[in-house]
Amino acid sequence: MLRIGPAGYPEGSRTPADAMRKVSEAGLDALEVQFVRDVRFNPERAEEARREAEARGVTLSVHAPYYINLNSASQATVGKSEAWALRAMRGAEAFGAWVVVVHAAMYGDDREGATRNVIGALRRIRRAAEEEGLRAAIGLETMGRRAAWGTLAEIRTVMEEVEGVLPVVDFAHLQARGPPLDRERLDTLLTDLADVPRLHCHLSGIEGGDAGERRHLRLGEGLDHRMVLDALRRSGREATVICESPAPMEDARAIRRYLDGGG
Ligand SMILES: [Zn+2]
Repeated sequence: MLRIGPAGYPEGSRTPADAMRKVSEAGLDALEVQFVRDVRFNPERAEEARREAEARGVTLSVHAPYYINLNSASQATVGKSEAWALRAMRGAEAFGAWVVVVHAAMYGDDREGATRNVIGALRRIRRAAEEEGLRAAIGLETMGRRAAWGTLAEIRTVMEEVEGVLPVVDFAHLQARGPPLDRERLDTLLTDLADVPRLHCHLSGIEGGDAGERRHLRLGEGLDHRMVLDALRRSGREATVICESPAPMEDARAIRRYLDGGG
């Protein structure tokens, strides 16, 4: 079963709970709460949204701030990054979101040590989260820029070392980083992830260049979303697909229509 929803609240949402209603009334069943610039929420509003989402069967995820870099040469930045991730996990707990999506790191000057540093930081984050009773999984996103840490192989290595860590498959990023996705590559990728119980994915159009990802585009631009959705369907996997295009609601509905056989 594929769950589909937008990144962020639909335009015109008066409250987070209202956003859940709008998503559900549009025939969608997932939403990613965007804490990408800051983790700010009103606990009562979050609780209201949690109940509304639960009642309507809308699965929630949270996107952590973009500033996180668990491989920074600066210990202060690593410390701040761990604090950001933990705050995003508190947000996830408040909203009842099951996974926190994280852009883990940049290679910087330490490409060799990056994976080890990410593992160390994630262990500390998990330990602190456990002490606070925060239950969300940490989702490491496959990154589109070649300067960013986060290939599927790197994420896999971390998953073997740290509990409670999952991959977040951003198909547009995979496409931009290359090699371009085709039917065979998609099937291999999804087979390799057969042991991941619940797959969390991002989908949009994409503009790439020599350095990888340039920017997200509308659905269908730079990546054949139907090919991706067909592969997900073929895999028979339980998966959530969050649409991160510049028009996330409209394009999430287009994904739903395609899956429902409406082209
Ligand atoms: Zn992301």
